Amino acid sequence: MMLKKSGQIGDLYNDSNLYKRVAMKLEKYRSEVETLTTYFEYFCKTQHTNQSDKEIFHNYKNKNFCNKISLCEECFDVMQYSIKRLQNCPYEEKPRCRTCKTPCYEKSYWKKVAKVMIYSSVRLTLTRIKDKYFF
Ligand SMILES: [Zn+2]
Repeated sequence: MMLKKSGQIGDLYNDSNLYKRVAMKLEKYRSEVETLTTYFEYFCKTQHTNQSDKEIFHNYKNKNFCNKISLCEECFDVMQYSIKRLQNCPYEEKPRCRTCKTPCYEKSYWKKVAKVMIYSSVRLTLTRIKDKYFF
């Protein structure tokens, strides 16, 4: 008989209440990915060099997506990580990551993504009104 282990990070997603999660709708997921894409591209373009055209393949609610994006290697890595976290977000209305009660980012990635989102949201909202921020 298997004993249930507790106190591990995986418990967040094994928790019986959260496991029956509704999660966000497909359209919501797509718009969150677009926000990430916009913010990451803007940050990378203004802060880094050596971008190249890349494709991110991801899957949500049994649908496959492919996003084209121009990023450096480091940003590409962080962006892919963010999308994985987003796919596992248990909320139908994604809270801002900053105020989330069940944060899911590893600390090192959290710092990198926070930097991108804060940098880009401040500058991009100077020219465009967004109703909410991702982070
Ligand atoms: Zn970059």
